[in-house]
Amino acid sequence: MLKECPVCKNKKIREVGGEEIAYERSVSTGKVLKREKNGCITWWKYTCKCGWESETYSD
Ligand SMILES: [Zn+2]
Repeated sequence: MLKECPVCKNKKIREVGGEEIAYERSVSTGKVLKREKNGCITWWKYTCKCGWESETYSD
């Protein structure tokens, strides 16, 4: 887990990522019946306002 930008030492870096959310859909109507509130994080990276971006991490 990164705490600061390695370029400008800013501590307010952001984490950007994607998550996978499980759902249940009725095949006959195409309607989504259930969607999990919390997904599994599949990838993430860190960004800073100076333009720096970390590599992309994944599980
Ligand atoms: Zn920075």
